[in-house]
Amino acid sequence: MSRFGLYIHIPYCPAKCRYCDFYSAPGRRAVPQAYVDALLRELADCPRRPDTVYFGGGTPGLLSPAQVGQLLAAADPLPGAEITLETNPDVVTPERLAGFRQAGVNRLSLGVQSARDDQLRRLGRTHTAAGAAAALRTARQAGFTELCGDIMLALPHYTREEFDETLSLLQDGGCTHISAYLLKIEPGTAFERFPPDGLPDSDAAADFYLYACRRLEEEGYRQYEISNFALPGHEGRHNLLYWNCEDYLGLGPAAHSCVGGVRRFWPSDTAGFVAGTLREQAEGVCDAEDFLLMQLRLTSGLRLREYYDRGGAVFDRRRLAFIRQCVSHGYARFDGEVLALTPAGMVVQNAILQELL
Ligand code: SF4
Repeated sequence: MSRFGLYIHIPYCPAKCRYCDFYSAPGRRAVPQAYVDALLRELADCPRRPDTVYFGGGTPGLLSPAQVGQLLAAADPLPGAEITLETNPDVVTPERLAGFRQAGVNRLSLGVQSARDDQLRRLGRTHTAAGAAAALRTARQAGFTELCGDIMLALPHYTREEFDETLSLLQDGGCTHISAYLLKIEPGTAFERFPPDGLPDSDAAADFYLYACRRLEEEGYRQYEISNFALPGHEGRHNLLYWNCEDYLGLGPAAHSCVGGVRRFWPSDTAGFVAGTLREQAEGVCDAEDFLLMQLRLTSGLRLREYYDRGGAVFDRRRLAFIRQCVSHGYARFDGEVLALTPAGMVVQNAILQELL
């Protein structure tokens, strides 16, 4: 049986970061109990005990430990479940972190982004580099051993030195898992309305990505997905479940689900979700092409046999010739059974997918 993950969306943040297009309301220092009650109402219909639980957002670190405890008691995860909570470094206190750990959270994900305070201010982040280091230290003292840090790449006026400083901050803080993302200017964000100066062009951004992949590998963080790197044995089980097209249920406005290959989502309307008037919407099915898209995000790649078993079209001569070309240019690895992209291939992933699909 496929594993089962539960995603809980917390649509509140202290402030809106200038690059962010996630669904979240700024100006909050706590999560209203009415929102938690609405989640508990929906959790009553959860079909299975989850193998993984992921509190994402928004800023789930704004939940109180008691609220996290209520939600986990209702979710009733299986023994040994991975339970992750995302947070910003500046909303967590020693008491709150100890409370999360006691409530059952065993993996903490901190949005660190950069080790430079001027960069953090430019991004609209509310924490400092020293604050991020302190939060990691406090998390370790609270008993967290699974610590994840996010780094943003190709920021305004970016340099390799800025990446190295941020990597050191996360390493020194005991991170076992690192997510490294390229900054994208998304529609509807402050950065779209007022673009920052000093943004690297796409070639320079690709160079920063490849540099990050190389440095992370050198430091023992093995790449297992386009943007995700982990010390051996510390890969994120929840997100792997998305990329392996297993079952997951998302709760909260803007959350997505896929159960039994049927995809659904909650519209972005917190008031409607709290009132109980919001209904989940159908979003189609997860087919062989989705499987191909997801598997090629992973360094383990796509098993052609599994793709065919899911109804994928047999790779014809034209597609096989294209794959051979990708291999000869260093964009892919292919042994006749498994197709996987290299870091260079991940940079041009969209163009490769266009040809394959
Ligand atoms: S804290 Fe995260 S979710 Fe909230 S605005 Fe910033 S990037 Fe977006």
